[in-house]
Amino acid sequence: MEAESGRAGAEFLYFGQSVLKEAEKHYQKIASAIGHSSYQDPWLWDRRCAVYIYASKRSYLKGARMPGWSNAAASFENVPTIRAYLGADDFLGTQLPHEITHLLMRQFVGVGNASVPRWIDEGVALWFEESGRAREMDDWVSVEAAQGRHISIARLTGLSDPSLAPASPDQGLNQSVSLFYAESFSVVNFLMERFGQARFVELLRQFKKGSDVETALRKAYGASVRDLEALEQEWLRSLNVTRAS
Ligand SMILES: [Zn+2]
Repeated sequence: MEAESGRAGAEFLYFGQSVLKEAEKHYQKIASAIGHSSYQDPWLWDRRCAVYIYASKRSYLKGARMPGWSNAAASFENVPTIRAYLGADDFLGTQLPHEITHLLMRQFVGVGNASVPRWIDEGVALWFEESGRAREMDDWVSVEAAQGRHISIARLTGLSDPSLAPASPDQGLNQSVSLFYAESFSVVNFLMERFGQARFVELLRQFKKGSDVETALRKAYGASVRDLEALEQEWLRSLNVTRAS
């Protein structure tokens, strides 16, 4: 992180210290929760995670080459890297744990592992946030699902880019991106609440071993989640949504 001079510099420096302290705390908590053993690629010394905080959202979008709806990003460059901007809403409790989760989970399952659908990446990253926004998303997606406006889990699984999520004609891009994230959280939250964190770690282990998504779900959760269709039924039931057949 580079500090600028004057008042902005002091603000940066203070913020930087908070980022370090909070990042360490999130790292310990998330790494142990998702089974990322501390001796496998620990973020130490020259493998330390780099956090770049841009001075404004504009310079972040340009520097990180991200779409307008993005507030933070994680990537593997020479080291695990997080990019965000000064003043992002509740960065320390929201984006920071979110992006750390992305990096730890991807290191665990394999950075380029294409079997892990994006909704699992995003759902678990939202699950480790400390703000209340994920719970609000869950309430909203329940309402959408009750009216049949959710994205089928089979379709969700095929989406690698949230901005390609389907939207009805009266809904815009932001609405479909929001639905993608909300549903991702809701399904992961269902798996965590119904089956617990240990089985989620088993799901990630299955991915690490090379299982495809349905095999990984079946091996981690058994017959009730034997395929994507069964997962969708169980998830909808947990939201109190019964689908007309
Ligand atoms: Zn994310």
